[in-house]
Amino acid sequence: MNEKKSIKQLFFATANKNKTAEVRQILGNQLQLLDLNDIKLNQELEENEDTLEGNALSKARQALKLTGIAACIAEDTGLEVKLLNGAPGVHSARYAGEDRSNANNIKKLLTELQDKDDRTARFRTVIAYIDDKGEFLFEGIVNGKIGVEAEGDGGFGYDPVFIPEGYDHSFGVLSPEIKNLISHRGRAFQAFIEWYEDKK
Ligand code: IMP
Repeated sequence: MNEKKSIKQLFFATANKNKTAEVRQILGNQLQLLDLNDIKLNQELEENEDTLEGNALSKARQALKLTGIAACIAEDTGLEVKLLNGAPGVHSARYAGEDRSNANNIKKLLTELQDKDDRTARFRTVIAYIDDKGEFLFEGIVNGKIGVEAEGDGGFGYDPVFIPEGYDHSFGVLSPEIKNLISHRGRAFQAFIEWYEDKK
């Protein structure tokens, strides 16, 4: 008999097309992901908390209120640099201030670390999942270092300056398959999906 397997839908509280595309690759056909763009809700979700956990939860709560759906996930990601005491961290998107853009954020980071030997850094992603049973958090971390200059144009955000541990090139050069396997986001979603599949 030819049994049709139904694929579960999950709502992802983001309008960031790069993130959705990456998470779709990570999830493969395990879940069908819908985001704010898919439902034509062109509203920016506020990120006013001072931790990744706080922002992830806040974005998931805002999305549930806006859409009226029963469950959703949201994530927040930060780049944490040891020599900068964990900065830019939760402020990664706004690091260059008024002039924030990927290029300006990277420029500021490279200037801060100019001539510095210890370039240790990590990316951290926190996922919040909310449904009628409660609020649940998942974390993914990738350790690495900040390169001396940007290289590659793959990925997005700080990828051209982040060199993961065990590799000689940045996420801007490494393939999406490698990034997704070892990245902060890949690991956070692997943890989430294991739990999610288990609870079904
Ligand atoms: P947010 O999670 O959307 O607030 O992202 C924070 C900042 O980190 C933004 O500047 C993003 O471009 C950057 N960022 C988020 N995820 C990644 C990633 O996987 N690689 C590189 N930069 C990222």
